[in-house]
Amino acid sequence: MKKVLIVLATVILLFICYLFFNLFTTNSKQIVVAPIDKIKIDEDVIKHLAQAIQIKTISTENTEAIDFSEFDKFNIFLKETYPLTDSLLDKKLFNSYSHLYLWKGSNTSLKPIVLMGHIDVVPVIEKNRKEWKEAPFKGIIKDDVIWGRGTMDDKVNVIGILEATEALLKSGFQPERSIYYAFGHDEEIGGNNGAAVMAKYLEDNDIEAEFILDEGSVITQGLIPGIDKDVALIGIAEKGSVSIQLSTKIEGGHSSMPSKETAIDVLSSAISKLKTNPFPAKLSQPLDGFIAYLGPEMGFPNNLVFANAGIFESVITGIYEKTASGNAMVRTTTSPTIFNAGVKDNVIPQSASAMLNFRILPGETVALVKERIETLINDDRITISEGGFNSDPSVVSETETESFRTIHKTIKEIYGNDVLVAPTLVVAATDSKHYKNVSDNIYRFIPVHINQDNIKAIHGINERISVDDFKDVIRFYTRIIENLEK
Ligand SMILES: [Zn+2]
Repeated sequence: MKKVLIVLATVILLFICYLFFNLFTTNSKQIVVAPIDKIKIDEDVIKHLAQAIQIKTISTENTEAIDFSEFDKFNIFLKETYPLTDSLLDKKLFNSYSHLYLWKGSNTSLKPIVLMGHIDVVPVIEKNRKEWKEAPFKGIIKDDVIWGRGTMDDKVNVIGILEATEALLKSGFQPERSIYYAFGHDEEIGGNNGAAVMAKYLEDNDIEAEFILDEGSVITQGLIPGIDKDVALIGIAEKGSVSIQLSTKIEGGHSSMPSKETAIDVLSSAISKLKTNPFPAKLSQPLDGFIAYLGPEMGFPNNLVFANAGIFESVITGIYEKTASGNAMVRTTTSPTIFNAGVKDNVIPQSASAMLNFRILPGETVALVKERIETLINDDRITISEGGFNSDPSVVSETETESFRTIHKTIKEIYGNDVLVAPTLVVAATDSKHYKNVSDNIYRFIPVHINQDNIKAIHGINERISVDDFKDVIRFYTRIIENLEK
């Protein structure tokens, strides 16, 4: 008995030693940079973002309702506001409203980079309009805050990139590496007429980019469990998406004599099976990177858990799956989005249908999701079919690249060494999904601060950005372009 206890104690001790060995051998991945002087940003520039907000470049699912005269206005706005960019860079329009500029570098043997953004915005929901503290399309600047739809998603990005470029052109700067600027006009409805067409053009012309930088992730404040510092998250992959329609036809009749199972019962039970059997929680490749970059910056015992993520996978996913945003990071999610059945209170409907949207974790596929749904439902009264726009998860871009380091370093130079940098998984879809054949290195990041106060503003109410934040966005893009030379 004593012997068994000794063996057991030794095993436990060795295990603890192993955990601590892993902790002490994981090093910080944070780059430390020398601070740089903040460049001065002209006050006029702030007005440019406000003017861009006033142009209602709204994308709606019903494309017939889109007011393209606003997109015409935006074309004119770009031409008039950025005369040097407009006259000195090569430019091409795709489907009238998507812009591709090229700033030719002095060394054409270097691969170009692509800076992306989109000029369309989502609509403002009419019944929420009253909740906006400032009108969403007036472009109001008040108490050093710029208000309106597009200040975070994604005009801040387009205008930030163009302001940086215009000022660099004015200063006589000439990049060594060529830079493409790709601004799509239909990102919010899938990007098929904008990003997809521009990406195809680059592909057809055998243009391979060193890296692509698009929107997708942000600088988070107080949103990551176990970390107090601001964290700049660079998306190295994005989830896939598939919408699945479930439908059933069963004889209806009068509600006074219902049969044992009606169409609504059968369909509800199928959805219930999917909801009560969620896809397994796991750490996908982008999350491994997230852990490797943030683990060493955490306090005890979180750093010990992250240093041994393989052993504590279920502990980590258990923490993350508690919140909706965390849950989306660790599993393929299941969201019923449309449910149709019935027309009258005393008539049992003959049919019922529902749509569910699944956001797919890297490592899984649309085909795998469908297979699992069929197995779980296992009911031949239910027809399962695909609907909507479907895409597999993106390829995962590497973090051990010069490009990732350039972005990392630039973030530190603008926001200070106190800001942590880490790769992440983007749970929403971006235009960059169309660029998979243009570059292996696709990074998704805009330097906008997101915290508990403004997290619901994107696609929601009171979208806004502080003037200081916007100035730093311009400084960030200026510095990225300068850093390409090094
Ligand atoms: Zn966006």
